[in-house]
Amino acid sequence: MTLRTGRELLMTPGPTMIADSVLAAMHRPAIDVYAPGLAAITQSCIADLKPLFGTMSGEVYLYAANGHGAWEAALTNTLCRGDRILVLTSGLFAAGWGEMAATLGLQVDILPGSWRHAIDPEALAARLHADRDQAIRAILLVQVDTASGVLNDVAAIRRAIDAAGHPALLMVDVIASLGAHDVRMDEWGIDVAVAASQKALGMTPGLGIVAAGPRARTADADLRTFYWDWRFRDGPEHYKRWCGTAPEHLLFGLRQALDLIVAEGFDAVRRRHHLLAEAARCAITVWAQGGVLEFNVANPAERTDSVTVVLMPEGMSAPLLTFCRDICGVTLGGNIGACTNRGFRIGHMGQIDAPALLGTLAVIETGLRALGIPHGQGGTGTAVAALAKALR
Ligand SMILES: *Cc1c(COP(=O)(O)O)cnc(C)c1O
Repeated sequence: MTLRTGRELLMTPGPTMIADSVLAAMHRPAIDVYAPGLAAITQSCIADLKPLFGTMSGEVYLYAANGHGAWEAALTNTLCRGDRILVLTSGLFAAGWGEMAATLGLQVDILPGSWRHAIDPEALAARLHADRDQAIRAILLVQVDTASGVLNDVAAIRRAIDAAGHPALLMVDVIASLGAHDVRMDEWGIDVAVAASQKALGMTPGLGIVAAGPRARTADADLRTFYWDWRFRDGPEHYKRWCGTAPEHLLFGLRQALDLIVAEGFDAVRRRHHLLAEAARCAITVWAQGGVLEFNVANPAERTDSVTVVLMPEGMSAPLLTFCRDICGVTLGGNIGACTNRGFRIGHMGQIDAPALLGTLAVIETGLRALGIPHGQGGTGTAVAALAKALR
């Protein structure tokens, strides 16, 4: 017996669901790589990405790559072999960026954080004060850690750096926040922000996006390689802007994905993310009363609107994930890293709407009942009530 038909509901925290209009925009023949219209599309995408990054002074670079590619572009354009950097962890992804940095020949210090809490700006301040000769050249963190569900306070991190009078570059992975949360690159003094197409932007995987501020663009760097070197991409020539043939279809899709965001309005997009994330959190708060499910992130203020990470005892989530996918057609994210096999993730970023989110909650609740997993009663109803109140 199955209750699924047709297209699966992909509720993972990347890749995310892709609008039909985005898919349709990509379904066309290739065009001449020198066609003038192509350069105009690149330019317009960059122009529409800048306000999402919150930058007027920064430059945006697009790479045929994923988030890992954007990480490498950020590091190699700004740093020299042997430079010391400080990685602030709050889950999985900043640590992964740090591992990449180590293989590039950088000296990587870790400021250990917690899987369940945002980065503590005071711990950072203390670490920077201890760096008396100011050897640390860059500070790396993620705004939203997709593995832990933590939302870091980048403004508070910037204040800690300023209070310590430290000149390090601030590099922020906004891969899971760009398009879902406020990113204020100029205001928060972010020197490099990295993003990718397949998360809250609602595009297919395939594009790495880097925004670089003035300090990053003039930084002393000897790790540059031909493909990632953003100076090469600065000129007027479109072929060079992509370091070769533009990934035309990704560009057609990105243009349409950005059109959707522009048409909805970025404030409305963020509010939609927040309301739907709140609805998910309402349901989980109720289910948690059964004593089996719990939020990974303890403090509600540190929970992201992009993804909600739910913990369960070892082994209990696998049957639930299978039930949701195979019986009901909803694919949730499994937990990864320190939480592997212990719970699940609801991705709620990008092209996510009320029926997708409410349907997902109802399916999870159906699974909890069908599998006899203890849970507080009425979580989905509570989410409905919260949305109704917010929309009244
Ligand atoms: C998904 C993700 C990445 C990795 O992106 P890829 O496109 O898979 O390379 C890095 N950081 C964060 C916060 C992510 O969510």
